[in-house]
Amino acid sequence: MIARVQPLTTTRAVRGPFDYRIAAGQAVEVGTLLRVPFGPRTTLGVVVGLAETSELAPERLAEPEAVVGAGVGADLVELADWMAREYCSTPARALQLMLAPGAAAGTGAKLALVAELTDAGRTALADGDRLTDRLTDRLTDRQRDLLAALADRGPTVAADLDTPGLRRLEGRGLVRIDKRPRPRRPVLHAVGAATASPPPLTGEQAAALGEIEAALATGEGGRAGFLLQGVTGSGKTEVYLGAVQAALQAGRTAIVLVPEIALTPQVLWRFQARFGDVVAVLHSALSAGQRHDEWMRLRTGEARVCVGPRSAVFAPLDDIGLIVVDEEHESSYKHEGDPRYDARTVARRRALRHGAVLVVGSATPRPESVLVLPRLRLTQRVDHRPLPPVEVLDMRGSHQPLHPETRMALADLRHAGGKAILLLNRRGWSNFLSCRACGRVWLCPNCEVALVLHRHASLVACHHCGHRERVPNRCPACASVSVARHGAGTERIEHELREALGSDPAHPFPIFRLDADSSSLPDRARTLQQFETAPAGVLVGTQMVAKGHDFPDVSLGVVLDADQTLRFPDFRAEERTFALITQLAGRTGRGALGSRVLVQTLAPDARPIAFAVHHDSDGFIADELERRAALRYPPYASLIRIVCSAEEEPLARETATAIHAELVSLDAAVLGPAPLFRLRGRARSQLVIKATERRPAIDAVGGAVDRIAPGAARRGASVSVDVDPQ
Ligand code: ADP
Ligand code: ZN
Ligand code: ZN
Repeated sequence: MIARVQPLTTTRAVRGPFDYRIAAGQAVEVGTLLRVPFGPRTTLGVVVGLAETSELAPERLAEPEAVVGAGVGADLVELADWMAREYCSTPARALQLMLAPGAAAGTGAKLALVAELTDAGRTALADGDRLTDRLTDRLTDRQRDLLAALADRGPTVAADLDTPGLRRLEGRGLVRIDKRPRPRRPVLHAVGAATASPPPLTGEQAAALGEIEAALATGEGGRAGFLLQGVTGSGKTEVYLGAVQAALQAGRTAIVLVPEIALTPQVLWRFQARFGDVVAVLHSALSAGQRHDEWMRLRTGEARVCVGPRSAVFAPLDDIGLIVVDEEHESSYKHEGDPRYDARTVARRRALRHGAVLVVGSATPRPESVLVLPRLRLTQRVDHRPLPPVEVLDMRGSHQPLHPETRMALADLRHAGGKAILLLNRRGWSNFLSCRACGRVWLCPNCEVALVLHRHASLVACHHCGHRERVPNRCPACASVSVARHGAGTERIEHELREALGSDPAHPFPIFRLDADSSSLPDRARTLQQFETAPAGVLVGTQMVAKGHDFPDVSLGVVLDADQTLRFPDFRAEERTFALITQLAGRTGRGALGSRVLVQTLAPDARPIAFAVHHDSDGFIADELERRAALRYPPYASLIRIVCSAEEEPLARETATAIHAELVSLDAAVLGPAPLFRLRGRARSQLVIKATERRPAIDAVGGAVDRIAPGAARRGASVSVDVDPQ
């Protein structure tokens, strides 16, 4: 038998598959991961096809050296092929996203020395020293502690306690130590209330779930997708839970995609509380070992529900009956590496292949989804509380980051002992520094953007490449010592709130900050937990604070500089602004206290802000679809973005021009080359293709890039293709 093997290299130049001879009786199938001889070296590769014969003479065919790890299912091999084409990438790169975590690097399940009590050990611990009066047999306090720890924890990695100490106890027969896979199930942080049994559904929830169940029952999933459009607090998660239950009852499996688990652990918690061990999680805050183990539980069928961020769309499950995409408007579903896949699009493709029902949900769905998916509506909050009133505060002419009305509302809240969330989509202290004497602006040496002041860390940093410098105290151009700080970021707002709201030890009013600077992912989860359990206080942060948290007692929401997202030169700017305000409003007013939302803006009349004030998602989407149709933007056309970069600007531009020339016969608008600001030391030039016919455009772009990119004349230039850029 012949196996067609796709080597897992990252170079685009190596395009498999290559043929290998498989000895009779060897267990090799499509999706098997193999170590194969490859030129002078060996490499890992995935079997992408089987055949009886090869075009190569038998003596020229090598045999694989070994089967490695668990491989993937045939459906994922097919998906990788599709992704390579859909995103102008390679099957090898797509496959690398799908293999067991660590498999591509050759790491398998980690074995560790695991210690466990023996019966003798249990007896010794229970009976104390009564059994013996020989002094040498007595347990020391330390040994007693070790035995007690094992009794408490069950099998434990020896090194986590005290390996030499345990070895001595092993010598006395009180402990058994052997090498086995480390027990390393992920630790859950309980946030929010989880009920193991479902609450009685509201009429709207039941109706929505009924439609999903019906689609599951016809076995015609695949073609059946739904958009679950429910206002914030309408109980969408409960519908997902019911749908997963139905899929499991039908003997099938389910994938639930969430934007970022570390920030919204409540969702995961609710799934685990409802379904227990049948749920596996895959996310970035897990250790590599934990991720691998969870992946294996899915692959072996021990776990049948996978909850995770975008990469969970590749969960190694068979017979998927349901794929849920929660908060489908979140841009984190788009992967920024190669292939630049969109998990929402991949989910649809995978659902089709498995005959699974796709359910995407949001309070602020994308126009793309509204156009193509039948809608299930949840129009009421579960508790029938109204959505909070949204007030616009005009900031034109103001020199303070906080409007007087905002200050007053916060002071009232402090007095009454309530909670507020304050959103400013900009981290750091101030957005840029300039010299008062000569006007020089501090820019990143690698990128054409201003450096942001981070006062606590005493540095200025580039938010694009990570470049950092000491805070300047004099201008290198004119030696003036007068440096002006412009604008306000989350760090400064946090500081101002502390100053303004004071700290009266009798009435603590803590200020929490949540942004990419404030902490690591697990720390952020902890911050959220602290805010949740605090009786009063303010949570200030970037868009992270507007994610799907379900805090029952937030009565004030504030958006600062709401039009900031509008100033991005991007056709999704309005959609983002609308979603941000609506989602923040959605975090407030979920409890008994009355509530309000304040929106500070320089553009009080901007369309998305006006719609958000009225909680008018339908109005906004209708209007937005009209605008997109007129301008031929998605969903009425597909966009493909090509960015050419090089150290020198002419090479970047020339590469873009050459690709442009390759696309002349394509029936689509090709815009550019347009210069982009320098990033990480590289000049960039961009082309944007607006195509009505998606497939031919993607193929043409893939072909053009392949012909142009590797040319010797353009050594040093690199090209990246982004289909459906965010
Ligand atoms: P959404 O995701 O739509 O914003 P959630 O799913 O977070 O809303 O639900 C909001 C709150 O309502 C949660 O605390 C949830 O436990 C609760 N909830 C959902 N459905 C019901 C129900 N049928 N009865 C009572 N409480 C519910
Ligand atoms: Zn100066
Ligand atoms: Zn930079």
